[in-house]
Amino acid sequence: MHWADVLAEELLKKQTKHVLATGITPSGPIHIGNMREILTTDAVYRCLVEKGGDAEFIYICDDYDPLRKVYPHLPSSYEQFVGKPLSEIPCPCGKHTSYADHYLVSFLGSLHEIGVNPQVYRASEMYKKGEYNESIQIALENTDKIRTILETLSGRQMPKDWLPYNVKCETCGRLSTTHPSLYEYPMVEYSCDCGHTGEVDIRKSGQGKLPWRVDWPARWRMLGVTFEPCGKDHATVGGTRETGAKISEEVYRYPHPGLLVYEFIMLKGQGAMHSSKGTAVSGEEMLKMTPPEVLRFLIMRNQPNRHIVFDSGLGLLTLVDEYDKEEEVYFGKEAETKGMKEFKKIYELSQPYHIPKTMPLHLPYRHLVTLDQIAKTWPEVKEILLRTGQLPKKLKKDDEEHLMQRAEHVRFWLATFAPDDVKFEVKIALPKIILTPEQETVLYILKEKIPDLTWEPEAIHNAIYEIAEEKKIPIKIAFTAVYQVLLGQEKGPRAGFFLSNLEKKFVLRRVTEAVK
Ligand SMILES: [Zn+2]
Ligand SMILES: [Zn+2]
Repeated sequence: MHWADVLAEELLKKQTKHVLATGITPSGPIHIGNMREILTTDAVYRCLVEKGGDAEFIYICDDYDPLRKVYPHLPSSYEQFVGKPLSEIPCPCGKHTSYADHYLVSFLGSLHEIGVNPQVYRASEMYKKGEYNESIQIALENTDKIRTILETLSGRQMPKDWLPYNVKCETCGRLSTTHPSLYEYPMVEYSCDCGHTGEVDIRKSGQGKLPWRVDWPARWRMLGVTFEPCGKDHATVGGTRETGAKISEEVYRYPHPGLLVYEFIMLKGQGAMHSSKGTAVSGEEMLKMTPPEVLRFLIMRNQPNRHIVFDSGLGLLTLVDEYDKEEEVYFGKEAETKGMKEFKKIYELSQPYHIPKTMPLHLPYRHLVTLDQIAKTWPEVKEILLRTGQLPKKLKKDDEEHLMQRAEHVRFWLATFAPDDVKFEVKIALPKIILTPEQETVLYILKEKIPDLTWEPEAIHNAIYEIAEEKKIPIKIAFTAVYQVLLGQEKGPRAGFFLSNLEKKFVLRRVTEAVK
């Protein structure tokens, strides 16, 4: 059975109604580990619904958390905002309503593309609407119990007058510089590093927030959460997961949600992606460079407790090929290979939306990598594909949308993470190059041959090959001549395929010009 089915069945044994939660603190670019959390939850959610469960999928943005420091991606002027809630700090680009929204809005938008549409909650709104008020009171009334749990499990010593509540200073607006000292319902006395001392009435909303270790379990009860995966950094002994479970049961009298610890996503050559450290590839970039079904496939085919290596270089192309192969197996066009476990379920869970009834049109992904560099827009790419017979004349709407979406992802990848050796540019004029006599010979004969040549990859490849053989010129030199006159570089995509996508008369003109 697929891991998501196993998890869904375990949940259904307890009850039919479930709230699956996941979330993020939008303190910087969303890290790729969060993609795993979201998609893991989405998989369990889908399996629950499929099995008749009454499930809800929620996504909580901890935008009421304070800014912890001036991260490397921020200007030094952000020093003044350290300690303030992320929802109350201006956005770095000036186009969003807050710092939190700067990182959140477009990310949430791209989730839709991968078929994830959770109900979004913002902690800042929940606090300001007073939804946390009761939980705050319960926490303050159980200060000793919470202190004992935290000290016993996490081994850290809390200050003598510690309270499980961070007041937002009425003068400077910071959460992390205040020191609450005394609680006597409904007032909390505090002092702040800015010099202010005062007291707040906890019956009024948005005056402060629960510390993270208390906030998390409080929210489980408030929202009725029954399942929430967490990264292994939270699942250590004495970590937030363990103290949260205990606080949930002993303070909030709420059974803690199902535990699922997921492993990190490692970036090839970079090690583990940790939530609090900067990442070389952000979640949004991962979404933009990987076709949606392929990104889902990467998560679905791996057990949550196994780490995933994401390769933003050539490995991405291999990953897409693997997905396409799986699709062929699913539709019975290819035989199942050894080790292809649960391929049916994996394929179905990889679909952002509906499961196709017939196999989508296949075009090797690497071809798009070449075509996206020959043509600048999808209509131009499509024109080449139609002209060269790589697409049927009657292209189905679904297939076109699918290919267009893939072409967009290829374009983003080429502009960002693609290694240099797959990149090229067809020069609009003959580049300034010096050809060797051997190369001139190749091009001269090629020029003579082109008019009668069938303009297809294999025929073109063979023609160049034959010239080299006939004239006893190393084949590499022959191909280099072709790349030189068109790209102004020594290497390029497979020559036969590459040339076949260019117009014959364009190639003829260029070769003629080169040997004039
Ligand atoms: Zn912004
Ligand atoms: Zn202050």
